[in-house]
Amino acid sequence: MRRAHNYVQIASHDWNYRKVSKPLGLSSDKLVGHRGCNLKSTTPLRSLVMLLALAGLTAQAQTPQYVPGEVIVRLKGDADSAESYAFLGKATYSKAMNLKESWTGMNMYNFKLSKGQSVEQAVTEMKKDPAVLYAEPNYIFGKSSDTGMHQTFSAAEIQAASVDNSAQAVYMATGAPIGVQNVWGTSTVPVTKPVVAVIDTGLDTTHFVIEQSHALWTNVNETPGDGIDNDGNGYVDDVHGWNFVDNNGSMYDDDGHGTHVSGIILSVDQNIYATPLRESKISIMPLKFLNGNGVGTTSNAIRAVYYAVNNGARILNNSWGGPTYSAALHEAVAYTYSKGAIFVAAAGNAGTNNDATPMYPSSYDVPNVISIAATTDYDYLASFSNFGGSTVDLGSPGVYILSLIPNDGFGTSSGTSMATPFVAGTAAQMSVESPNMNGYQMKSILLTQKANVTQLNGKVVSAGRLNTSNAVTYAKSVGVDASQPAYVLSYQADRQLASSIAGGGGCGTVSKMGVGAAEGSPWSSGVIVLLVLAPLAVLAVMRMRAPANRRKHERFKINSDVRISVGDRELVGSVSTISLGGAQINTEALLQDGGLVSLTISSPDGVDKVEVAGRVVWSDVNKAYGVAFNQAPQNALSRIADWTRGLQKAA
Ligand code: CA
Ligand code: CA
Repeated sequence: MRRAHNYVQIASHDWNYRKVSKPLGLSSDKLVGHRGCNLKSTTPLRSLVMLLALAGLTAQAQTPQYVPGEVIVRLKGDADSAESYAFLGKATYSKAMNLKESWTGMNMYNFKLSKGQSVEQAVTEMKKDPAVLYAEPNYIFGKSSDTGMHQTFSAAEIQAASVDNSAQAVYMATGAPIGVQNVWGTSTVPVTKPVVAVIDTGLDTTHFVIEQSHALWTNVNETPGDGIDNDGNGYVDDVHGWNFVDNNGSMYDDDGHGTHVSGIILSVDQNIYATPLRESKISIMPLKFLNGNGVGTTSNAIRAVYYAVNNGARILNNSWGGPTYSAALHEAVAYTYSKGAIFVAAAGNAGTNNDATPMYPSSYDVPNVISIAATTDYDYLASFSNFGGSTVDLGSPGVYILSLIPNDGFGTSSGTSMATPFVAGTAAQMSVESPNMNGYQMKSILLTQKANVTQLNGKVVSAGRLNTSNAVTYAKSVGVDASQPAYVLSYQADRQLASSIAGGGGCGTVSKMGVGAAEGSPWSSGVIVLLVLAPLAVLAVMRMRAPANRRKHERFKINSDVRISVGDRELVGSVSTISLGGAQINTEALLQDGGLVSLTISSPDGVDKVEVAGRVVWSDVNKAYGVAFNQAPQNALSRIADWTRGLQKAA
């Protein structure tokens, strides 16, 4: 293998990213041509990756990429309000959309549109509905490195070159000395290791470096393999993170990117190139949302971000991005700030100025986001790296970085993807020294305890490059300052929508193929047109009330009687499912959608009765109706809660 010294030579700043990308012959014109189409059926996989890379490269806001036939919508107010129920009824019945996932805690939903509905039209119509806070396409993101592996090595080759020190350590010592060696030997293994979420392509959890250092995060409240969500976090058997691509707990890395990133984070903790490996002082929580082509959706990115902070990670590594603003992702990032996390994000590999053409998530103005540019071993901005005198925060080594690749291998790769985990790894070591330090303070320290680099003046906010040694030492010495500035999230949804629609109808005919109620019936009209109902649609509504956050308003199967008062009519029927937010009732009588009803519901044993008012929010051909409770009295709710203890959960 090459000697360590050669890395320095290869990694010189005249190495040019564009030489790699050009032969593929992709242009932004081609990108426009694929806008909104079914990418997988029309684009070779390799090209798709490069398309997304180019999306980052050109950072053209007018050429967004998104999942065909899907939208993300956030409603105003509470998920159990009559307005929310009415909207969901409308979406499912009038518009024949299928609910893919809901975050009822946030009143946010991911819908699959019916055939022939265009994303643009659905978003435009939804935004006119007074119940909607924002609506947007399900944008696609890509990883922030595009070069693949420059060179690969076996473990034996690496260790042969690491007699006195690792190749990486030499590189960092002679080139850009970020000083990780000063961190390796300090501190003992904490009882509670800081958790770094790697939101990426996954992780080869059986790589010997990960295994022998015990770096893999374990969810101690989850029993493996029993098919039960033991900790009630909405994820079954999520023992070592979650795979949002396959929606299960089995982790792998079919790209290699996430494993490489994870290895860099661990390389700040210890020398991962020489045996024996030590017990790590940190844990890595792999969250796979990018598939084997390095491509992922906004909806899965959001799931991963929430999962990370809700399950104990306070450091989030985000070596991915895209040019399009997403209000839903913006909100998820703001949530991480409210939880005291640090959101470390790659600035992008377009070689462009993020001040002018933003790259998300790194360009969100949330105070805990630290946007990372890539530097060479001579501390120049890497030719491919995005920069921004007011929007990119810090430089960090990102050229020819050696780290892990799946199947016990090692390899070098370049990108802001590789620069970012050095910073996340440094934040993790700061957490080792100061466990209660919040992300905002970590960011402040990272930006002041840096190496001043003249060449980075005007390129990054701090005019500096990461200095791990200084930042960790400083974190150890300084007290915890828990205060952080208030952040008021200001959505840019309107601007984003305008840009996403400006390019025209995407795949041409698609936007003109609306059928039935989907065409020409704006959401704001308030008119509910019932279509012929598919059984699946009913199931979708039932599922709405059993979202990932199962602790809120879980729906139960029940078999009890109900009296229904509508105006001066008195009707009888039965209740088949119930939650604290509403019930499904069945009656021979015809009830009007949107109508107000008063229900007297019997307990399953017929002994108890509660009275609640509500509104009919959906109905189907089998005379089943969904009723959303309207400000149900607390004592009625607590009695319903009593009844449902011991009842079977509805699907
Ligand atoms: Ca779980
Ligand atoms: Ca389990």
